[in-house]
Amino acid sequence: MKALTVLGSTGSIGTQTLEIVEDFPDRFKVVALTAGRNLDLLISQILRHRPEAVGLADPDSIPLLRARLEALEAALRPSPLPALLGGSDGLCAVAAWPSADLVVSGIVGCAGLLPTLAAIGAGKDIALANKETLIAAGPVVLPALEASGSRLLPADSEHSALFQCLQGTPWADSARLSTGVPTPGLRRIQLTASGGAFRDWPAADLAKATVADATSHPNWSMGRKITVDSATLMNKGLEVIEAHYLFGIDYDHIEIVIHPQSIIHSMVELADSSVLAQLGWPDMKLPLLYCLSWPERFETPWRRLDLTEVGQLSFRAPDRSKYPCMELAYAAGRAGGTLPAALNAANEQAVALFLEERIHFLDIPRLIERVCDRHRADLTPTPSLADVLAVDSWARQAVREAASVLAASPSLLSA
Ligand code: NAD
Ligand code: MG
Repeated sequence: MKALTVLGSTGSIGTQTLEIVEDFPDRFKVVALTAGRNLDLLISQILRHRPEAVGLADPDSIPLLRARLEALEAALRPSPLPALLGGSDGLCAVAAWPSADLVVSGIVGCAGLLPTLAAIGAGKDIALANKETLIAAGPVVLPALEASGSRLLPADSEHSALFQCLQGTPWADSARLSTGVPTPGLRRIQLTASGGAFRDWPAADLAKATVADATSHPNWSMGRKITVDSATLMNKGLEVIEAHYLFGIDYDHIEIVIHPQSIIHSMVELADSSVLAQLGWPDMKLPLLYCLSWPERFETPWRRLDLTEVGQLSFRAPDRSKYPCMELAYAAGRAGGTLPAALNAANEQAVALFLEERIHFLDIPRLIERVCDRHRADLTPTPSLADVLAVDSWARQAVREAASVLAASPSLLSA
């Protein structure tokens, strides 16, 4: 029986993780949960999973949560009320909760960084969905993993595919798991991308893209932020940096290939030119389950892949001029240090402004580029956690300022 903490339990990753727990009641139990704002869903999860501890991002909501749980005390019996902890310190305490074996990192954005580091500091294994943690703070997270002995198991479908392909190669020595050490025998990584919401749109039409257009993904059902990241292909750019940190491979050997069917979840090319791929229906439960069951494989009743039903698998190179975010991410990854933190924070802030309909879809890469260019002169090559957090808040502020300029005089940025 593996004891789990689920950070971000009310989101897309969190709810799918809890479905897996319900599918395998003899294998997994939940000991702690954290959420942002959705109290109704959180309370129903508490009633079902009876965690020992619950964390809420907003400490001011703790009294309301406590009152609602006290009113449900009879329904909770014989379980006691969980410990309720709020704010950043509370989330970190829940992330480090002593009885957990593995922590699912499913908060969205850099908000997941401190709780994930707290879990690593407590020696927990991590199922990492929250890629922003590694992108913003790879140079902090990797040494923390080394120091604590925690293992970072990739939940992102592409990185899970790479991880699965690498089992059975010289890389599979678990001591190497996700420490950023160059992988013996690994020659090249190909990350597949569905192409996102605008895959079949001519580039010229992107000027008309609305929030509703950008938040309808053709293949995957996910949270709103990552769905917009898929539409700009920033998600794939972030995944390039994620792959660099996870597998210790240089950027010249990480490629992106558009694969509209999302059946091949990524590929590795080995020294002898052999290419290994992992296939499956586009369903996050499979990579999530592998994080939880690794190194075992569990029998599931899930729909089996039938390639005759799929019919055709197709591939093409991404259009670099249509998707400037990809190149911005490669450039930030190659520069290293704090530049990926600036890129990530600028992207989070730009996407938030886009979702609030305060900037246009095409402004997202413009704002990110502007902020990354400004940060280059101040880049810290080997940052501390404090450096990363300072750059994160600077980049958000810089995007907000540039967006106000844009609102006042759109031609300044679109030039
Ligand atoms: P989501 O928006 O559906 O859920 C986010 C969760 O984080 C919610 O529980 C929310 O309450 C919580 N949260 C939000 N802001 C918070 C804050 N400031 N402090 C604490 N908690 C906060 O997002 P998602 O789609 O589940 O994505 C979660 C992470 O997983 C992201 O980093 C995303 O890139 C990654 N990911 C998601 C998918 C997917 O299929 N959804 C696939 C691959 C990777
Ligand atoms: Mg992915």
